[in-house]
Amino acid sequence: AMFDSLSKRLDGIFNNLGGQGKLTEEDVNTALREVRLALIEADVNLKVARQFVDRVKEKAIGSDVMGSLTPAQQVLSIVQEELIEVLGGTGENNRLDLGGSPPNIIMLVGLQGSGKTTSAAKLANYLRKQGQRPLLVAADMYRPAAVNQIKSLGKQLNIPVYSEPMGADPVDICVNALDYAREQAISVMILDTAGRLNIDERMMNEVTNIRARLKPREVLLVADAMTGQEAVRVADDFNKAVSLTGMVLTKMDGDARGGAALSIRSVTGVPVKFMGMGEKTDALEPFYPDRLASRILGLGDVLSLIERAQESIDQEEALKAQAKLQQGKFDLEDFLNAMHQLKRMGPLRQVMEMMPGFNKIAQMPEMEEALEGDHLKYIEAMILSMTKEERRNPDIIDGSRRKRISRGSGTTVQELNQLLEQFKEMRTMIRQMSSGKGPWAQMARQYGG
Ligand code: GDP
Repeated sequence: AMFDSLSKRLDGIFNNLGGQGKLTEEDVNTALREVRLALIEADVNLKVARQFVDRVKEKAIGSDVMGSLTPAQQVLSIVQEELIEVLGGTGENNRLDLGGSPPNIIMLVGLQGSGKTTSAAKLANYLRKQGQRPLLVAADMYRPAAVNQIKSLGKQLNIPVYSEPMGADPVDICVNALDYAREQAISVMILDTAGRLNIDERMMNEVTNIRARLKPREVLLVADAMTGQEAVRVADDFNKAVSLTGMVLTKMDGDARGGAALSIRSVTGVPVKFMGMGEKTDALEPFYPDRLASRILGLGDVLSLIERAQESIDQEEALKAQAKLQQGKFDLEDFLNAMHQLKRMGPLRQVMEMMPGFNKIAQMPEMEEALEGDHLKYIEAMILSMTKEERRNPDIIDGSRRKRISRGSGTTVQELNQLLEQFKEMRTMIRQMSSGKGPWAQMARQYGG
């Protein structure tokens, strides 16, 4: 995933630093030199990487890190602060501004292939979940397939799309769409404007004309994070030509090194407001610098995890499970249910990476298989091959039953043993949590669970 290699590098640097106890200024300087190299290797803009390290150094000196009892911790927390800063800080201007009188207009601009049309649909979907009444406007007359693409996305999401026949003038389309939006009590309009393969004058003129006529509340550049520093250059050019209010960084689910996300704000001054996390229409998330910084440093992202759980988990099921958990009861059927719920939260890897400390585990080769293969299908087959009694109390499953169950489910005894082991561990953990004792209970308290 994105930031993987940067995370690994930073982790190595800080482990090294932490293992040394008392630190000299030279230790810190060496570590920071490595941080700078790690950033550059992650394709971060050179100047941004240098400034980053300079600021960390300045703060470290100012706060007398070397005199503190936990110098490595102090350096880590300064790096965390600076990471948040470089990703965009925590200010209000990171959020979408829909404070105008409706319909608020969001104009999307960007190069072809950046994910502009997909992002328009994702954004409409996201805003509807926030209680808005969105309208998609097909104003990309340059790429012939774009109009059909947005129409079919609109249909799929049941979100209205305003379009006109091919050849219509994009400014007219937007003006007419605004009339339509007023008639239909639309609260937010999303304009999908023309993209080009490269920046050219015609495109910039078109974008400038639409901006001047429609006066959109937001002008968001959609940029492909996989293109690294190229995305930064594109953002800079667009911003100079049409003055952006924000950005959507797409393909953040890919394994780009992360240089675009880490440089674009510092270089252009334009905040990233959303990130695309996949091809599906629900794969769009607000861009939170603080949460990303914790993910990069392997500290997890509990807030996003909780939000995602709230969105995707069946409340009734969750309450039932909670009641059982509190009684310290938890059987294989509950386990299967929990796995299903977890699956609904999105790709397991993405979910795992949000858990504190799990970043590294999710990257281990043996997890690869468990997270991406047909693992869940096999678990389900094994559990369904058991009797009801066995599901309630797996301890009664003896050797001959183990053979039968694994044969019946097309798995091996070894795999079944693994599942039962895993289940036992989870049960122990849950008993501890419900009794309020042990390390897991501590963790649950810490995160407000
Ligand atoms: P446009 O030319 O800018 O309108 O680009 P499209 O919206 O047609 O997207 C180009 C390709 O990128 C499509 O295959 C999309 O499915 C894909 N895409 C868009 N956003 C994302 C994203 O966040 N993650 C991934 N993995 N793919 C994306």
